[in-house]
Amino acid sequence: MKRLALLVFILLLAPLRGGAQEAKSLPSADERYKADILLVVAHPDDEGAATPYLARALDEGKHVAVAFGTRGSSGANEAGAEQAAALGAIREIEARRALATMGITNVWFLGGKDTASQDVLQSLANWEHGAALEHLVRLVRLTRPEVVLTFLPGTFIGEDHGDHQAAGVLATEAFDLAGDPSVFPEQVAAPVRRLEPFLENLRPWQCKKIYYFPDASNDEMFRGKGPEYSVKDISKSAKQAYWRMGLESFRLHQTQAKGYLDSLSKLSDAELEQKAISDGWGDAQRFVLGKSLVGGSVTGDVFENVKPGGIPFVGPNGSPEPALPEVSIALAGPWSFYDEFRPAHGLTLWHPEPPEIALQAGTSLVIPLWLRNETAAAREITLTADLPAGWKLTGGAGKFVVAAKQVAAARVEIDLPALEDTAHGKQESREVTVRGESKGQSVGIVKLRVELRKRALPE
Ligand SMILES: [Zn+2]
Repeated sequence: MKRLALLVFILLLAPLRGGAQEAKSLPSADERYKADILLVVAHPDDEGAATPYLARALDEGKHVAVAFGTRGSSGANEAGAEQAAALGAIREIEARRALATMGITNVWFLGGKDTASQDVLQSLANWEHGAALEHLVRLVRLTRPEVVLTFLPGTFIGEDHGDHQAAGVLATEAFDLAGDPSVFPEQVAAPVRRLEPFLENLRPWQCKKIYYFPDASNDEMFRGKGPEYSVKDISKSAKQAYWRMGLESFRLHQTQAKGYLDSLSKLSDAELEQKAISDGWGDAQRFVLGKSLVGGSVTGDVFENVKPGGIPFVGPNGSPEPALPEVSIALAGPWSFYDEFRPAHGLTLWHPEPPEIALQAGTSLVIPLWLRNETAAAREITLTADLPAGWKLTGGAGKFVVAAKQVAAARVEIDLPALEDTAHGKQESREVTVRGESKGQSVGIVKLRVELRKRALPE
């Protein structure tokens, strides 16, 4: 008690004792949290998509911080009985320990909830988009990264996890917003009292570059769109190949991969290398340049042209919305979101045309549509669909009245057939076409390329 009383007395007295002549230093940003790279991913173990590169960057003296969108509270638990929020609590620790094997300890969680679908909009809603973005902007201002690394915001045939996409969307938004002092201004406001409980005294921070890694099955299409790093080079500090450092870090994810990890631990070093390389650990680390505000070449090093110190805020170069015909139909959902997202953030990311998705055979496909009528009178629009043989239209075709000046949501629903006998657990993608017609004229054609698989996340 006495010691506490003395401490309180000293604390109260301290600010009053400064001499009148001495210049007082003002508190500055805490350098222990300054990062060169901020990695933004969705779930514990997603960091494995970048750990071989991070090991290389750490070797070069870079500092790394990591933000996870969720604690990964859904899915099977291979290490114990715990499920749901309890599983998330364990996975938070697994992620911290996995990164700690590489010396990365500045790790935060945005508090989003696991959302098992391919629809980024469902993930953003379930993560409480605004709150998650506010926290990520705070972390950018706190860690002041030169470079942001994250999942590519887009939808592709592949795992295409909506949460992975959400990490990429939030990271892109934070990249464009953290340097703007008018955004979340309470974060950059100076304290107005000695023990300020609300205002954060951070400074705006403009990151210099953002790079993406895709969540597509085939990342060949991204070759040449950013730098590529071999993961087989040997770390100077750890005297191990970078892929091996990634794998050693991954070993901490027991709840997600205990069976696989146990099988690896029975192997000799040579067998382990052969197995891990065939499981993809030896694949080159391939990034896609999102944007650079400091120039440099597309395939140049991540840190090419990055010099210490801040750069001025650069607003996203939004371009005006393209003019649409007065009456039209268009693909909605995540596809139309990304059509708006890319120009709004000044991105010219490659995306598949026609748009694509992989779905589980025997489930259903929903094609979300916007029906637009900008004219001053109600209009009838007729929707028809061309489907591959064996696919069954179950709803959404026919005639619809769209009121004057209305943009209405509609959906075409299709039952997908069982998987044909194939060795690969998937079959060639097929094209679905929806046609809109009004007053005997076409008002739009929507195409979607769909691959059927044995297993896939729901749409
Ligand atoms: Zn994930």
